[in-house]
Amino acid sequence: MKFATRAIHKGQEPDKLTGAVTVPVYLTSTYQQDGLGKLRAGYEYSRTGNPSRASLEATIASLENGKYGLCYSSGSAATTAVLDLLRPGDEVLTTIDIYGGSYRLFKTVFAKYGIDFVFMATSSADEIAERISGRTRMLWIETPTNPLLNILDIEKLAGEKRDDILLVVDNTFASPYFQNPLDLGADIVVHSTTKYLGGHSDVIGGALATGNSELYESCKFYQNAAGATPSSLDCFMVQRGIKTLEVRMLKHQSNAFKIADFLKGHPRVETVFFPGLAEHPNHDIAQKQMRGQSGMVSFKLHGGRHDLDDVLGKMKIFILAESLGGVESLVCYPYTMTHAGIPEDEKQQIGITENLLRLSVGIEDVDDLLEDLEQALS
Ligand SMILES: *Cc1c(COP(=O)(O)O)cnc(C)c1O
Repeated sequence: MKFATRAIHKGQEPDKLTGAVTVPVYLTSTYQQDGLGKLRAGYEYSRTGNPSRASLEATIASLENGKYGLCYSSGSAATTAVLDLLRPGDEVLTTIDIYGGSYRLFKTVFAKYGIDFVFMATSSADEIAERISGRTRMLWIETPTNPLLNILDIEKLAGEKRDDILLVVDNTFASPYFQNPLDLGADIVVHSTTKYLGGHSDVIGGALATGNSELYESCKFYQNAAGATPSSLDCFMVQRGIKTLEVRMLKHQSNAFKIADFLKGHPRVETVFFPGLAEHPNHDIAQKQMRGQSGMVSFKLHGGRHDLDDVLGKMKIFILAESLGGVESLVCYPYTMTHAGIPEDEKQQIGITENLLRLSVGIEDVDDLLEDLEQALS
C-alpha cells in the first residue's frame, strides 16, 4: 500500500461494533473484565493500553516502515523513553544543533544519572563514527538539524557503528513522508507529533517506531511504568492530522522551495539554509536519503539584531512563535527562543548567530507569503 493510503487506513479499520469509519475516541480509564484474568480485547487500564492510542501507534509504525509504534504525551516524553534504554556509564554521541529541549534533557536531567553526552559540532557521519569509544551505546541524531538544516548521512552512520550501539534518529523535521530512517539502518525513529504529524498546532504529542521487538518491549514497559501517555483525544487529533500528511507535506515543500529561492535572491539576505537548494553543502546526501523537503527554511540577514527586530515587527502573516510543522507559517529567532539554553560559545561554533531566522513555512497561498516577506524585508 502507498503512503497516503496507509496514512488514512493503517490501524484505522471501521469500528467492529458500529461501523464507525473514524476510530472512536475511547475516553475511558478502565475496562470491564469478563472474569479473573479475562480481558475482552486485551485492555485493562488506559495508561497500559487504549484503543485510540493503539490505532495511532499502528499508523505511525506503518508510516515509518517499522513493526512497532509507541505514543507518548510529548516528543520529549518519547525521547525520555528511548534514553531509559541506557545505564550509568554509557556514552551518547550527539550534535549541538539538536532540538533545544533534547539538549536540555540530556545535559541537565540524564547527565545526573551518570550518562555521558558528547555534543559534537559536526554534520559529518565520519567525524561522529571516529569519536565512538568503548563506552558509546547510542548515537542520537537529528537530520535535517535544527535550526541550520544540516544533513547527516544516516546510512553511513549505521554502517560505521558497532552492533551494540543504537542509532536513534529524531525525524520530526522531515516527517515520515520525506524520510524513513529505519530503512536506512536506524534502530529507533522518534517524533514530536506536535509538529508535522499533528500538523495543526493544536496538540502536544510524541511517538517512536522500531523494527526491533526487544527495543519495543523495553520502551513499551517504560511507557506504562513511567506513564507519560497521550490522552485518547490527543491521539485522535494526531491521527486526524496524519490523514492529510501527504497533501500538506507537498504544499509545505512547494511553498518552501519558492521562499528559499526568493530569499536567495534578496539583497538583504546573507545566506539561506535549505537542503533543497543545489548549493546547500549537504544537498547530495539530502537527495540520497530524503524524498523531498519539508517547510523548514532558515536564513541570515545582513545586519544585527536591531535590523531583525524591525523585520519581525513588520511581518503580518508569519507569526513570531516557537514550534513548527503546522498549517500556518511561523518565524522564530533561535538565538533567544528555541536555542536560548545553549551556551554562547557553542552557539557561535555551530552558527546560531544573532542574525539568524528560522521559518516554518505553512500551507497558505505562497503569493501571500512572498508578499509578506517582501514587505517585511523592504
Ligand atoms: C518539538 C521537538 C521535540 C520535542 O517535542 P515536544 O512534543 O515539544 O516535547 C523534539 N525534537 C524536535 C526536532 C522537535 O522539533
